[in-house]
Amino acid sequence: MFEPGPELAEMNETGESFMQWKSWLQAAAIVGLMIGIFVADTVTDLEIAAAVFYIVIILLAVGRFPRRNVIALAGLCILLTLVSSTLTAGGSREAGIVNMAISTSAIGITTWLALRMVAAEAAAHEARAQLVRIARVTSLGELTASIAHEVNQPLAGIVTSGNACLRWLGQDPPNIEKARASAERVLSDANRAGAVIQRVRSLARHESPKRDRTNLNEIIVEAVALAQAELDRHDIGMRLELAEALPPVQADRVQLQQVIGNLLLNAMEALAQVPQAERQIVIASTLEDRDVLISVADTGNGLAASTREHLFDAFWTTKEGGTGIGLTISRAIVEAHGGHIRADANSARGAIFKVRLPVAGAAR
Ligand code: ADP
Repeated sequence: MFEPGPELAEMNETGESFMQWKSWLQAAAIVGLMIGIFVADTVTDLEIAAAVFYIVIILLAVGRFPRRNVIALAGLCILLTLVSSTLTAGGSREAGIVNMAISTSAIGITTWLALRMVAAEAAAHEARAQLVRIARVTSLGELTASIAHEVNQPLAGIVTSGNACLRWLGQDPPNIEKARASAERVLSDANRAGAVIQRVRSLARHESPKRDRTNLNEIIVEAVALAQAELDRHDIGMRLELAEALPPVQADRVQLQQVIGNLLLNAMEALAQVPQAERQIVIASTLEDRDVLISVADTGNGLAASTREHLFDAFWTTKEGGTGIGLTISRAIVEAHGGHIRADANSARGAIFKVRLPVAGAAR
């Protein structure tokens, strides 16, 4: 498992205290604004509905503070509206009552709508995260089920023939001929299991993908758009450095989306370990010789030597709840497209994953 070192703990503490300061400042700004509106509402005549500006406070609070606090704040705004209305000396009473009704309903309706919007957004986040989890678990399930199913038969054969071989050898005198035949069956079953594994691996690579001329810049932009809400939610800065007029590659669009999506997801997960102010992902595309180069760089904690050794191993993960097949599948896909994938240390900090794919029609 990934153990954060003392430096990281210190950085996390700095990040946390920064966040604490930020929320204190926001709370202070809201209280200041509230006092301002209360004073304005009290000193102006009853005909002026200054209290409707309390909806600004609700809109500022929603998404920043827990639902319970937002409802309490809305209650407080309504209470202050009522108090202002009784304290205000000048103006017509009827107009005052109408304005008070308008202001309190505006506060109530705004709170209700804003909280509903935030809840819908949270549900959408959850659905998207679940989709990613399902996609990963489904591939994992498919892979293990086919391996288990197809390898089981030759393995059972090996056990039967091995037992038979031992029985023939155990006879007095040993039946060498029959024992040899059993041992040969063991060998042929073992070869069959090997062939099955090969087949399962090519299945995982989807060896007959639909290949079209594909623009990798488009795939990157789509992947980032899909992840934008998550990037915003975790305060991750995203920079695209895409080469203009990038030539297309001959590729299965869906599979390459999976590769870019996996690398982006890993980068985002790596950034969970660092303070918010330092979270940055850069995705770049360039043309080099007759290859398109894509890189996904993050400012996470990078790759320890022990991590680098196993990065592309199947089922190897340092994450709680990780599957360890994202990079395995990504490498299988990239290699099936005649390309390479590698991981390096990013120049300043973090990790950089580089994918190299041949330009469509390029002679290799
Ligand atoms: P998973 O994400 O489910 O763990 P992957 O195969 O995608 O599976 O990744 C394997 C491991 O590689 C991760 O658990 C993590 O330790 C490491 N890794 C992948 N990407 C990064 C990255 N950008 N920075 C640091 N470590 C990474």
